Amino acid sequence: MARYIFITGGVVSSLGKGLASAALGALLQARGYTVRLRKLDPYLNVDPGTMSPFEHGEVFVTDDGAETDLDLGHYERFTGVSARATDSVSSGRIYSTVLEKERRGDYLGKTIQVIPHVTNEIKDFLKVGADEVDFMLCEIGGTVGDIEGLPFFEAIRQFSQEQPRGECIFMHLTLLPWIKASGELKTKPTQHSVKELRSIGIAPDVLVCRSEGPIPQKERDKLALFCNVRPDSVIAAQDLKSIYEAPLAYHREGLDQAVLDAFNISPAPKPDLTRWEDVYDRIFHAEGEVRVAIVGKYIQLEDAYKSIAEALTHGGMANRVKVKAEWIDAEIFENEDPAPHLEGFHAILVPGGFGERGTEGKIKAAQFARERKIPYMGICLGMQMAVIEAARNMADLTDAGSEEFDHEAGGKRFTPVVYHLKEWVQGNHTVKRKVGDDKGGTMRLGAYTAHLVEGSKVAEVYGSTEIEERHRHRYEVDIKYREALEEKGMVFSGLSPDGRLPEIVEWKDHPWFIGVQFHPELKSKPFEPHPLFADFVRAARDISRLV
Ligand code: GLN
Repeated sequence: MARYIFITGGVVSSLGKGLASAALGALLQARGYTVRLRKLDPYLNVDPGTMSPFEHGEVFVTDDGAETDLDLGHYERFTGVSARATDSVSSGRIYSTVLEKERRGDYLGKTIQVIPHVTNEIKDFLKVGADEVDFMLCEIGGTVGDIEGLPFFEAIRQFSQEQPRGECIFMHLTLLPWIKASGELKTKPTQHSVKELRSIGIAPDVLVCRSEGPIPQKERDKLALFCNVRPDSVIAAQDLKSIYEAPLAYHREGLDQAVLDAFNISPAPKPDLTRWEDVYDRIFHAEGEVRVAIVGKYIQLEDAYKSIAEALTHGGMANRVKVKAEWIDAEIFENEDPAPHLEGFHAILVPGGFGERGTEGKIKAAQFARERKIPYMGICLGMQMAVIEAARNMADLTDAGSEEFDHEAGGKRFTPVVYHLKEWVQGNHTVKRKVGDDKGGTMRLGAYTAHLVEGSKVAEVYGSTEIEERHRHRYEVDIKYREALEEKGMVFSGLSPDGRLPEIVEWKDHPWFIGVQFHPELKSKPFEPHPLFADFVRAARDISRLV
């Protein structure tokens, strides 16, 4: 049975709880332990799949097809452990399961209550796969005191009492604000936050305190005294230049040691941090910079494309260059020449997206990259736009478009080069969907295999002709246009195993133009950059050195 580490937050949100959890996971691995990380989110959506990227940031998709919180992306990037559907849960999912059971009569006429029915459901979630790892790290979303969060706090309290003594610890993340006028670091908000936590029966073992600068010993002692933790369990989390510094920084601060001490693990196995030292070295000793334009729609909130930004950074690390990603709103050049906006970039990336808004701009970006021979990566919608551009401008299908936009507008305007997929093969069964199905979870989601054409650019980049990547989309490029487009030099270089669904397209006479129907960014790690991102940045670097 795993040991459990519960990670909670206080004072304010956005302190980097997910990052702290992920970094702790990486440090435990560095000491030879196996870990799994989990996120418990108090919101009432069943999953984040239906939330706007503007509200919630990116939806992270797991191999087994769950739409989850972007923190699971952090977990994977730091630990390399592939997240599963059972690593993320929300209040909405818990309540919907409880209510389904109630309707089925599973509770045998009982009155359904938060305690025990909802808390039991949460505890069952915590136990899944507990035999597989040494440590289970469970992060509770939001901050202590949030109304929605209460059942989760109550459940972890009960859980810790039901486990053998010493097998669960609590780590609490707070903020120490710096008051400029008096030149002081304030501990009071943290004291209040811990008081709140203790009032619901949870006493933190480790306090992680975010602060702009170092925490003097005096404040550490005060925090230890008033919050009832040991002085060496007060861990400072200072602002970092790169998130990938976090494992080394937390290790220097003694986080992993404090955690192992709290479990009474002695002597603690020595850590091997070479992986993170190499990552650090690659980030902070980069030579040169490449500029990549990301032409998208959700540009106000960088978290909307979190994994793409990270995968580009990893691609830079693979080539020891810094990648400067600049976000460009596709709408601004829908009715004008994109050249003034795109010139000067060493590569263009069109990411995934939903809806018609901005798509004409993305099509222009694909055209610009094709004609000017600038490296182009199209991800999901970005691939679909590249194919529509090719159909319109190279294959005389001037009204080529996507059925997605016709559905949205409620009328037929385009030749559907990209069409709504209603039936496809997953493993050894067929999945069926209707246009009007519920919005949640009705996409082609999760890992699917693709076969790559031998001798193609992608086969060379992957070093393989069979790959598995994660999907999240409803629409597909229609295979019936393959011949017409291949005649013009666009190669359909990756296909679903049954040959019906185009997974990858590339232009033959182009230094680097690849569109993929899947999301390679979800599998990239700092210590294992995704081959597509590594090679895309390599191509951008080569161009940057020419000019
Ligand atoms: N909107 C497109 C589809 O559903 C693309 C989705 C995406 O880019 N993730 O097929």
